[in-house]
Amino acid sequence: MASVKVAVRVRPFNQREIDMDAKCILRMEGKKTRITNTSQKGTERQGDQHKFFTFDHSYWSFDHNDPHYISQEQVFNDLGTDVVDAAFEGYNACVFAYGQTGSGKTYTMMGSKNNQGLIPRICEALFKRMALGANYRIEVSYLEIYNEKVKDLLRKDSGHNLKVRQHPTKGPCVMDLSRHLVSEYCHIQDLMEQGNNQRTTASTNMNDVSSRSHAIFTLMFVQAQGGLYNDVPTETVSKVHLVDLAGSERADASGATGQRLKEGAHINKSLVTLGSVISALAELSAGGSRKAGGFIPYRDSVLTWLLKDSLGGNSKTIMIAAVSPADCNYSETLSTLRYANRAKNIINKPTINEDENV
Ligand code: ADP
Repeated sequence: MASVKVAVRVRPFNQREIDMDAKCILRMEGKKTRITNTSQKGTERQGDQHKFFTFDHSYWSFDHNDPHYISQEQVFNDLGTDVVDAAFEGYNACVFAYGQTGSGKTYTMMGSKNNQGLIPRICEALFKRMALGANYRIEVSYLEIYNEKVKDLLRKDSGHNLKVRQHPTKGPCVMDLSRHLVSEYCHIQDLMEQGNNQRTTASTNMNDVSSRSHAIFTLMFVQAQGGLYNDVPTETVSKVHLVDLAGSERADASGATGQRLKEGAHINKSLVTLGSVISALAELSAGGSRKAGGFIPYRDSVLTWLLKDSLGGNSKTIMIAAVSPADCNYSETLSTLRYANRAKNIINKPTINEDENV
């Protein structure tokens, strides 16, 4: 049994926040994060002005020049190495980044060319360790969920029309999703770049280019066990899902209309369902009596259906909540911290996937 590990990371001010002379409303110390409601100054009691949260990690990445700035490398050392270890031990793993658009999800997950994020670092570390033995294989797939529809990001002509089905033994599966056997790290980099170029982006009033879709990069890590079962070599398969979620802001907050509003509503459906699943699991883990007999609404959205195993199931799961430091984003940041706080209570039951044939 293992709780979902939850980390919060605050980014530096962006240009817009600097231009509007934003105030930093977050403080972090050790595992603790404090958020301050500056608009309440002088009107409320001191105690109501600050709210405190404790996470597995509170990452201060507000100012590059601060000696306490938490780097991409540090985040990988804390969280990424656990994922690599889990894969080698035969467990499933999942990392997902949550937060409003522009809060730093993609930076933490993908990073930039000179400052790589968790996904490339995890892949690189897996390959480095694989080089020490001969019995490994990695296959990758990369998909996008947009308006509750699934698209293969590694197939040039793919539309958002792939079907999700429940496989009797393997669980939820995306039909016809391409899998790519990769033998070198640079091959993965090419595939990631290809997939990222295909990601759907759209403008809203809030951000020039804001990602409205969820992206799931999956590594299937296969280890030969050296034995035979019914004349077929036995293998252990660990699935590692690395998930960049769409922005968590509400459609009404981004001034969306028409098509954008429709997209917003769908994105909220996936994120709202993710929230309901997290709440239901947290309640279940706390031993609360579930009205509907422990029912978890995984099937209410494509995202939660595909991530079913990573949420309350057979997986070591890490959630990273990305937040803006600025006072103008107070309510979104508070809602992200509350969301992350609930996720802490989920208990997973990771088990080693022994002797699974693929
Ligand atoms: P999101 O994926 O949540 O929409 P991004 O990852 O694109 O947000 O981040 C928005 C901007 O903030 C980018 O320009 C990114 O480089 C910068 N940024 C985000 N997180 C950090 C960080 N921890 N350190 C430095 N810059 C960051």
